[in-house]
Amino acid sequence: MSEELDLDHFKKRLTKRYQIILADREAQKKNTAPKELDQTSVGRLSRMDAMQQQQMAKAAALLVDQERRRIETALKRIASEEYGYCILCDEEIAGKRLEFDPSLLTCISCAQNAEKQ
Ligand SMILES: [Zn+2]
Repeated sequence: MSEELDLDHFKKRLTKRYQIILADREAQKKNTAPKELDQTSVGRLSRMDAMQQQQMAKAAALLVDQERRRIETALKRIASEEYGYCILCDEEIAGKRLEFDPSLLTCISCAQNAEKQ
């Protein structure tokens, strides 16, 4: 059998990251909602630039939201002792991969397959 995963360690990292994501989301709600195209905040940016920035912010927010959902799943899988196994093929996920990003739910080959599609 391969390496034992230190679930506590991953749980701590996931929980910490989760809290940061939620806190950021709260902060952004306060900041962005009312003054989207406020002249003072746009400054010298053209309207185009401002819109482009909004698009980028939206894309970034989407990625974070996907990460948040992965973390929720990962935490559930820690609780049910399925953490560290690929959700697609059930193979073990390499420890190095989880060390890099504890919210990853698939093994390297499934991740690569997903990218090709
Ligand atoms: Zn897999």
